[in-house]
Amino acid sequence: MDLGIAGKWALVCAASKGLGFGCAQALVAEGVNVVINARSEGPLQQAAEKLRAVGADWARANGQKAPEVLAVACDITRAEGRAAVLGVAGGPGVNFDILVNNAGGPPPGDFRDWQREDWLKAVEANMLTPIELIKAVVDGMAARGFGRIVNITSSAVKAPIDILGLSNGARSGLTGFVAGLARSEIAARGVTINNLLPGRFDTDRLRATFAGVAQKTGQAIEEVRAEQAAGVPAKRFGRPEEFGAICAFLCSQHAGYVTGQNILPDGGMYPGTY
Ligand code: NAP
Repeated sequence: MDLGIAGKWALVCAASKGLGFGCAQALVAEGVNVVINARSEGPLQQAAEKLRAVGADWARANGQKAPEVLAVACDITRAEGRAAVLGVAGGPGVNFDILVNNAGGPPPGDFRDWQREDWLKAVEANMLTPIELIKAVVDGMAARGFGRIVNITSSAVKAPIDILGLSNGARSGLTGFVAGLARSEIAARGVTINNLLPGRFDTDRLRATFAGVAQKTGQAIEEVRAEQAAGVPAKRFGRPEEFGAICAFLCSQHAGYVTGQNILPDGGMYPGTY
């Protein structure tokens, strides 16, 4: 299926690896120009090279110019970082057609130990940063009659995990805000906003949690991994490429009637009917 978005410009945040990279890869494979970001320069440039190879394949197969891949090393949770991605030379400025919001998740813990600063940091990263980026691009999208915004949140928004209180709280704030904005006047002007709520996806972040559990329980890391995969009805973890494909579909011309939704790729983990 041709997603009908070749030549569009996408900003994919926190995309040197994991779910963000999966989204960027799926978009470039459709001929979309991307600006990606992450804090560490080396891995970011390596990711950009991989994406350029994907873009070259698309160009050869379609007899067209390869999509642009621009990489900006910065912290997207800071105002300077957001200004850097929106102002990158050769990029579209604020005239992005697609925005994929993503950043690292807040740390786990007991809410009794968290100070006001911990909450502010989580809200800044996982609620206000995506809202600031939406604010920068959404009116331009509406004026041009096409826009796709996808926020990477977490399955914990639907099925909260007790030790992830900072994430449950900050991401639910974003989800509530987006539910209203998606149904505002922008819905009639070609702009959709949806959230993707990952369950367990096989990324560095998930693998880091195995090490933590192994340390606590005395199990081998491979044992923890097998146990956690067995707890998913699909009996495996999701792959970042699968996540990226869903994201690209939500960004496509075909998904123009899907907005304000919380989509849960989790291998059947969420136990409810609705
Ligand atoms: P990951 O594999 O660790 O990748 C995180 C990416 O984000 C890296 O490219 C990292 O690069 C970048 N990044 C982190 N903080 C950033 C910042 N402040 N500014 C710019 N870039 C930043 O993580 P992931 O598994 O893809 O997770 C992505 C998001 O999904 C996280 O919010 C996570 O909590 C959420 N999530 C993941 C899962 C899962 O199973 N994987 C489940 C639920 C929710 P640098 O470190 O170089 O900046």
